[in-house]
Amino acid sequence: MTRAEHVRALLAEYAQQRALDEREQQARLDAAVARVPEIGQLRQESADLAFGAMRGILGETDAARRQAMAQEMKARGRAINARIRRLLVEAGMPADALETRYRCPVCKDTGYVGDAPARFCDCFEQRLRLRQHEDGSMAGLGEQNFERFNAAVAPEEGGQREQLVKARSLCERYADSFPDTDFRNLVLTGEGGLGKTFLLNCVFERVTSRGFTAVRITAFRMFEAMRQQHMGNDEKYDGFSALIGVPLLLIDDLGTEPMMRNITLEYLFTLLNERIAAKRHTVVATNLTAAQLKERYGERVASRLLDRSLCAAVLFRGKDLRRL
Ligand SMILES: [Zn+2]
Repeated sequence: MTRAEHVRALLAEYAQQRALDEREQQARLDAAVARVPEIGQLRQESADLAFGAMRGILGETDAARRQAMAQEMKARGRAINARIRRLLVEAGMPADALETRYRCPVCKDTGYVGDAPARFCDCFEQRLRLRQHEDGSMAGLGEQNFERFNAAVAPEEGGQREQLVKARSLCERYADSFPDTDFRNLVLTGEGGLGKTFLLNCVFERVTSRGFTAVRITAFRMFEAMRQQHMGNDEKYDGFSALIGVPLLLIDDLGTEPMMRNITLEYLFTLLNERIAAKRHTVVATNLTAAQLKERYGERVASRLLDRSLCAAVLFRGKDLRRL
């Protein structure tokens, strides 16, 4: 099978999964309404409210009034949802019993993430790789893995090649021993073009091919997840929680994300802190030095990133391999 055929087959599988998600959600809803009929009435009220408000908003020509109406609709919708959650809990069900449960909360089982141009979600890429692997045709994927890693591209002078060989063996041991690694976290640090991202991708590839779940994300996309969570426009959005919960999180290019007041630092701290508390593994690649990390994120975040009892730091030095 070609990659395109695998993609088509996998998209069909994702469509089935979404249908299943919806059926299960409907079944939970039916069960909840059977136990607490008021929930059914509230759901109807919520739908009527949205429909009525939508008609009113469309008929309104004044932009400020339209916005006010939309705000009010949202507030009333939230109040109804809060009431439903209370009723669920009172009846001994979880507050989120009526929410759709996705196999992948990041893409909500669509396989895609981001606005146009959307790209495949990591879960999709992972499944795609597995399919192709099973199919015995990994060719043409341009995959970055330990098998393809070639330290000979680095010059010998200044010990750059030797250092890269060491970095590779440390990363490979980490990936092979996951989750029983010598150090729980890895920080790959040094200037651009020295092989950090390549090795981060190698770790991801090895750990996922061993059957573990991992998420690989650029700091910029991680920031988007934080921002979206912070705005709270989409109540069902929990891409950020997914980052906290995944067994192995690999963050590439830390330091390139926007620094937004109340978001970047707070969320990054929460992410690192909760992952450490839950003993989950994190790999970070960054162009920043330890001192620069402290300066950008402050002591609180930097100390969690660089905690010597938890983390092995691998320093990359030398000539940019992309320019040789
Ligand atoms: Zn996904």
